Amino acid sequence: MKSIEQASFAGKKVLVRVDYNVPQNEQLQVTSTTRIKRTVETVNKITNDGGIAILMSHLGRPKGEVNDTFSLKHILSAVSETLGKSVTFLGDVLDADIEDKINQLNSGDVALLENLRFHKEEEKGDLEFAKAIAKLGNIYVNDAFGTAHREHASTATIARLFPAEAYAGYLLYGEVQSLKKTLEEKRSPFTAIIGGAKVSTKINILKNLMEKVDNLIIGGGMSYTFLSALGFSHGNSLFEEEMVSVAREILEQAKIKGINIYLPVDHLCADTFSEDAGTMLAEDQNIPDNWLGMDIGGNTIDLFKKIILDSKTILWNGPVGVFEMDKFAAGTKAIAEAIAESTKNGAYSLIGGGDSIAALGKFGLSKAVSYISTGGGAMLEYLEGVELPGIKALEEN
Ligand code: AMP
Repeated sequence: MKSIEQASFAGKKVLVRVDYNVPQNEQLQVTSTTRIKRTVETVNKITNDGGIAILMSHLGRPKGEVNDTFSLKHILSAVSETLGKSVTFLGDVLDADIEDKINQLNSGDVALLENLRFHKEEEKGDLEFAKAIAKLGNIYVNDAFGTAHREHASTATIARLFPAEAYAGYLLYGEVQSLKKTLEEKRSPFTAIIGGAKVSTKINILKNLMEKVDNLIIGGGMSYTFLSALGFSHGNSLFEEEMVSVAREILEQAKIKGINIYLPVDHLCADTFSEDAGTMLAEDQNIPDNWLGMDIGGNTIDLFKKIILDSKTILWNGPVGVFEMDKFAAGTKAIAEAIAESTKNGAYSLIGGGDSIAALGKFGLSKAVSYISTGGGAMLEYLEGVELPGIKALEEN
């Protein structure tokens, strides 16, 4: 995969696939510009080189039909402000006058196309649609890591139409490098901390990580199903009966492969699922009847912390307790702090998943880890070992 760093864009019309699927309020104003901010470096490289950046994205789910609510013109001012440049709205990629409009742009200009998903061909990865987009530029950059797990016209199909001139933007390149550094080029001991609500949503990640890690720490709601597989009681905690056999299989596989699996050894419990619940500490792995496990206990914190501090590569996805409620946030906070400390001592740490990122933010530790992946679904699929079509297409070039 070629980084944009290697390209020179002088005099080129550069088609840049970005992920500006930003959150909006009822007035359609942009409420978070994070996704736009993360593309600034890529856009600046193109314009500073003397190229024309033609930005294209999807927004929401217009389901292949033109729908003003999902028009990118509503985000134009936020894009201009965040990029610090005036941005021209070009209209739809198939408009009759689109090439004329692009020909009026000058070197160093930035322009924005209409929502690509106004055409059903986009999500189908349609070749003719990709050719229609490709015709508008002479070089292609993909900086939309968040959509890299989709085989769409503007991600995978179009990249193949620019065999020698398809590049990864800084954001996409950084995301892929950080995942590779964690999963492929890892330094041992490699520890993954997987938490969150359910085993069922993380099962493929757990299975793939079994091929890579030295230590697997399992916390959060999903740990009670694992503990149940070992014969411990789960009380009223989150529990997936149908996942017990899968959990047992993972525990057995770990033994065969020589992987250390760490589960909570004590629990902070609540009598109801609420911030003002009564609490008690369950001092062993069992959760007493009528109680819910809500966070890891002090001994578990000490145990997990020690493993994290001894690690050289760390991957964290999913909180180890109901951290949104302050009473049950201590475990997740301790994990975040241990990862920060280990990173300071030289470990490489990659954090992904909305809740873990929110937890880092809540505890003021966002800058204390090596890399935060905002890839969402794309990152999860990568962790599952799935080949991402948007990246594969760039790598094949
Ligand atoms: P996920 O989207 O699977 O990563 O799950 C994140 C959610 O798991 C967060 O909203 C946490 O509140 C929740 N969670 C973590 N630990 C527990 C627990 N012990 N019981 C119930 N929910 C939990």
